[in-house]
Amino acid sequence: MMMMMIGIRLRRHTFMVRQYVFQLQSIVNHLFGCSKLVNNIISYHIYLSEIHRLLRSSPDLIGDSCAFKSIKVAIKCRPLTEREQGRDIVRVKHDKEVVVLDPVFSKDYLDRIQNRTKEKNYCFDRAFGPGCTNLDVYTACISSVISGVVQGLNATVFAYGSTGSGKTYTMVGTKSDPGLMVLSLHTIFDLIKKDKNSDEFEVSCSYLEVYNEVIYDLLEKSSAHLELREDPMHGIVVAGLRCIKVHSADKILELLNLGNSRRKTENTEANGTSSRSHAVLEITVKRRQKTEYCNQVMRGKLSLVDLAGSERASEANSGGQKLRDGANINRSLLALANCINALGKPQKKGLAYVPYRNSKLTRILKDGLSGNSQTVMVATISPVDSQYHHTLNTLKYADRAKKIKTHIQKNI
Ligand code: ADP
Ligand code: MG
Repeated sequence: MMMMMIGIRLRRHTFMVRQYVFQLQSIVNHLFGCSKLVNNIISYHIYLSEIHRLLRSSPDLIGDSCAFKSIKVAIKCRPLTEREQGRDIVRVKHDKEVVVLDPVFSKDYLDRIQNRTKEKNYCFDRAFGPGCTNLDVYTACISSVISGVVQGLNATVFAYGSTGSGKTYTMVGTKSDPGLMVLSLHTIFDLIKKDKNSDEFEVSCSYLEVYNEVIYDLLEKSSAHLELREDPMHGIVVAGLRCIKVHSADKILELLNLGNSRRKTENTEANGTSSRSHAVLEITVKRRQKTEYCNQVMRGKLSLVDLAGSERASEANSGGQKLRDGANINRSLLALANCINALGKPQKKGLAYVPYRNSKLTRILKDGLSGNSQTVMVATISPVDSQYHHTLNTLKYADRAKKIKTHIQKNI
C-alpha cells in the first residue's frame, strides 16, 4: 500500500515537472518563433560574441603586449637602382630597426663607423631591407588581417612614402613579385574556397582616386565628381561609386590595371610616372548566413590605399611650384598626418578629437583608422643619399603612427 502511494506521488511529480518543462518550452518557442525583436537580439549577440572571439584570437604582429594596438607600422626600404650604386645610407637591422646615416658624414665606410653619432635609429613593428620581397611583407604583416576581413571585420592597408620610394611597387607589384593588393585578393578567394559554405560569400570591389579633393571613380572611363554621404547603416559612403561583383582575384587585377591607367600622374625626377592622387581599392566581403531564426549578413571591408608622394605635404607648406593647381592636392595628406598626430597623443580622459572631417581621404579612411578596424601602414623609403630628408620625414611620420593605440575591445 505504502509503495503504491509513493509510486502515485512520484508519477504526479514527474507529470508536473513535464508540464513545467512543456510550458517553458512553449514560452521560449513563442518568444523565439514570433518575436522578430528577440531574434534580432539573439543574432546580434551571436555576432558580437563572434567578433569578441575573433579579436581575442587575432594574432598580433608584435605579441601580447600590444593586444590592443590597432595600427601596425612596417618599413620597407627598396633596393638601389643602377644609377644610385654606392650612395646607400640606410641599414635595416634585426627585422625591426632602421638606421639612417647622415650623407655628409657617410662618404666612405670608415667615416660611417667613426661618426656613429650621426646615425639616426628608429624601431618599428617590422622593417624590411632591400632584399625582401612583397611576399615577405605580406606574410609578416598583412595575412592575419585578411583572414579577419573574410570573417566580417574591417581592415585598412596603406602605403606611405615619398615619390619613387616604392609605394606602387609594394601595393601592386610585378608578375614576379606580386604586391599587397594582389596577394590579399588571392588570400580572400582562397579562404572563401576553403569554407564549406563558400556559396554564402559575395565579393565586390570599387576603386577610386582622390585628386585635388575631388573623388573620381577609377572603374569608370570618364568619371563624374563623386560626393561623400553619411549612411546610417554603412557609415561614410561614396555616392554613385561603381561597385563590381567579382568571382576571382584575376578579375580584380584586370580592373586594377585598368583603373591605374586612369590615375592622374606627372613626370618627376624621382619617378617617371609619379601619382598625384591617392588611390583606394575597396573590397567588400559579404556573407549571408541563414540561421534557424533569421538571416544574418556579415560584412568585412578591406581598403588598400596607395597614397600620393608624401613630399607633397611639405611642398604645401613651402608653396611649391607643382601646386599651382591648388593646395587641395595635399590637403588629404596633411589631414591624414593631423589625424595620425591626434590619434597618437596620449589620452588622459575620454576620447581624442580627431579631425577626420578635414579632407576627403580622412573621411573615407575614418573607419579604417579608428574603432574596430585593423590598420597596417607600410612606410616605404629609398636608400639613396639624395633622399635623406624625405627618408627621415617618412620615418618620423611612421614613428608617430606607431603610437596610435585604439582599445578595440572597449568600443564594442
Ligand atoms: P612610388 O609609387 O612610391 O612613387 P614606385 O613604386 O613607382 O614608387 O617605385 C619607384 C621605382 O623603384 C620603380 O621603378 C620601381 O620598379 C622601383 N622599385 C621600388 N621598389 C622596388 C623593389 N622592392 N624592388 C625592385 N624595384 C623596386
Ligand atoms: Mg606610385
